[in-house]
Amino acid sequence: MNSAPARAEDPARTGKTNLLNFDRPALEAFFVANGEKAFRASQLMQWIYQRGCDDFGQMSNLARSLRAWLGEGSEVRLPAIAREQRSRDGTVKWLLTLDDGNGIETVFIPEEDRGTLCISSQAGCSLNCSFCSTARQGYNRNLSTGEIIAQLWIAQRALRAYGYGERPITNVVFMGMGEPLLNFDPVVGAIRLMLDDFAFGLSKRRVTLSTSGVVPEIDRLREACDVSLAVSLHAPDDALRDQLVPINKKYPLRELIAACRRYVDRQPRRRVTFEYVMLAGVNDGVEHARALVRLLRGVPSKLNLIPFNPFPDSGFATSTPEAIDRFRDVAMAADIMTVTRRTRGDDIDAACGQLAGSVLDRTRRSQRLQARAEERLQ
Ligand code: SAH
Repeated sequence: MNSAPARAEDPARTGKTNLLNFDRPALEAFFVANGEKAFRASQLMQWIYQRGCDDFGQMSNLARSLRAWLGEGSEVRLPAIAREQRSRDGTVKWLLTLDDGNGIETVFIPEEDRGTLCISSQAGCSLNCSFCSTARQGYNRNLSTGEIIAQLWIAQRALRAYGYGERPITNVVFMGMGEPLLNFDPVVGAIRLMLDDFAFGLSKRRVTLSTSGVVPEIDRLREACDVSLAVSLHAPDDALRDQLVPINKKYPLRELIAACRRYVDRQPRRRVTFEYVMLAGVNDGVEHARALVRLLRGVPSKLNLIPFNPFPDSGFATSTPEAIDRFRDVAMAADIMTVTRRTRGDDIDAACGQLAGSVLDRTRRSQRLQARAEERLQ
């Protein structure tokens, strides 16, 4: 029996250490501190991440005494699967419930030559981009390393069972709910596990962090683990970007583009992916495309045009295919590699900006309470 009191960072109140929160150096340190050999950590990681095993009893190359010790004080704690939806096109979406009741979403997108998992980094999002439905739910909290890596664990296990192969996830994108660079350390811990050969063993080119442009953290990321970088640009000038992506008021385009240059300047063949959501009559004109070409001059870039995915009361409409093609042609003529993103999983609302995992919104709740208090005062 473990009678240790539940710790503050243990919302499940099991009192046990969730091993998913440790990257390899941390797990090795945990083992050594408890009188075990460091290499046992790698063995345990292979069981957890490669075999998808969350039961210490089955880990047959670990000594019985070690398994017993793990069982007493540790666990592989996973969010619950509240709902799973499978699209006609093979896309799979999971709604996961965290220990504290928050919901997050994870989406798997199979393509011919790869399988991409789109993961969340926060419960909700604090950034308020005007065209994104996640923003409408408000923000609750950062996810832990364990809650981020659990999304890969859960998806891998399910996809194997559905016959998507032994290694269904070849790519990971931080394009689900949340701003990953506002949850820096847990996100970096999870990335280390994605890249670790004893865990998921992905190449760093196949892990993409997408940010709305938190400039100082872009530089920190380059030092911590230089995975592929995507930037949600959406506008070629500050006036328009201030409206669409409000964090632009804090880190305007000149600073953002300079940070993007720094991110790739030590690696000759790398490019930053710029995401650009196509909003009819807002940012999709030929003049916007020309301004974008000027902005990105000399920056090693790829441009990803995302047809806007509508949601109720968004106030925006999707650009016409003709407008998207015209925009693409201007960018391509200036030698910017440009791709129009296909919408996937639209029968299950799994597209960009549609992830809405029913967050217990602290910000909004407090606004409501404040409004009520004000009513009483009147
Ligand atoms: N906060 C990070 C990660 C979210 S990524 C970021 O901003 O990059 C999700 C991507 O989908 C972003 O490029 C976002 O701008 C885009 N997106 C959000 N809402 C959308 C919508 N309704 N239609 C299409 N793309 C959308």
